[in-house]
Amino acid sequence: MNLPSITDLPIERLAATVTSLGLKKFAASQIVTWLYKNRVTSFDEMTNLSKGARQVLAENYSIGRLKLSKVQKAEDGTKKFAFVLKDGKKIESVLIPSPDGRITLCISTEVGCAMGCTFCRTAKMGFIRDLTQGEILGQIIEVERATGHGSRITNIVLMGMGEPLVNYDAVVSSVKVLLDARAFNMSKRRITVSTSGLISQAERFSKELDVKLAISLNATTDEVRDKLMPVNRRFTIADIMKFCREYSKRSKYRLTFEYVMIGGLNDSAGDMKRLVKLLSGIRAKVNLIPFNPFPGCDYKMPQETTLKEWYNYLTSKSIQTNIRVSRGQDILAACGQLA
Ligand code: SAH
Ligand code: SF4
Repeated sequence: MNLPSITDLPIERLAATVTSLGLKKFAASQIVTWLYKNRVTSFDEMTNLSKGARQVLAENYSIGRLKLSKVQKAEDGTKKFAFVLKDGKKIESVLIPSPDGRITLCISTEVGCAMGCTFCRTAKMGFIRDLTQGEILGQIIEVERATGHGSRITNIVLMGMGEPLVNYDAVVSSVKVLLDARAFNMSKRRITVSTSGLISQAERFSKELDVKLAISLNATTDEVRDKLMPVNRRFTIADIMKFCREYSKRSKYRLTFEYVMIGGLNDSAGDMKRLVKLLSGIRAKVNLIPFNPFPGCDYKMPQETTLKEWYNYLTSKSIQTNIRVSRGQDILAACGQLA
């Protein structure tokens, strides 16, 4: 029998669910802790619930798990985890250790992606389906299980396969579980949601949840952005910047801008200067990501000297800038290579 997974229920719906099953309301809190703090895999392990309660739960729900199908380790320490979902679909997560001790897990929010960015490997799969809350959180649980307690994940970025703000409800409810003190108990500033620029959703999201935001800008003119990212026909660069200025005023966080540098396409000196102008008045951080090539896409990587030039220029304009070293490239775990 295929019972629904209890991990797909938003935390705030659990109390109503358990009372409808005849359990006491406070059991919801206990269940949250068992699922997301103690990470049990069966209701039987929820030992502070009565035998009867555990049985009723097991008759109505399962505790869904993702099946880890493959772990690949890159030379730089990055690990890619491939999972098989209940319906046979595959997703990937990437674990990225940093020299400063942070351990970041990049998780997927959809199988494939509908946004159609022309430089992205996930886009080539098309959109297959949204992930459920249990599948989003399951990536973290299974990666921690597989790597043992020695490597507790410190940061979560929703930057894997998919556009998080398309799968809005499951992403919001998952982030709530990450923040909940009874569950993952993560701090807000350790969670970052990256969007390709769905501005109306970003606005709503940023008012609902106080976690960090990253915007994949990737161009400085609408002409180029239209070609790279079809979403730009709905929300132009001006729309993005208007939102960012307003966000910058009300949020304590710096906004992250991701800029995939594609040789000869969006990496001219003019682009560099326009980028600085666009960001004026915004508390911003820029991640320059050299385009990661993949079979079937003939965009070029930027020149090393161009990258350095951009880095120096942005830094000289007091914009905090990182060159996102392409991690895990030998295992196709780098940005935009998940498929
Ligand atoms: N859909 C969201 C999050 C997932 S994509 C978004 O677009 O923001 C995560 C990041 O990878 C984005 O900043 C995207 O611009 C970048 N990316 C996609 N394909 C890439 C590639 N081939 N090389 C380098 N970065 C890429
Ligand atoms: Fe989707 Fe992000 Fe890839 Fe664009 S870059 S296709 S939004 S995953």
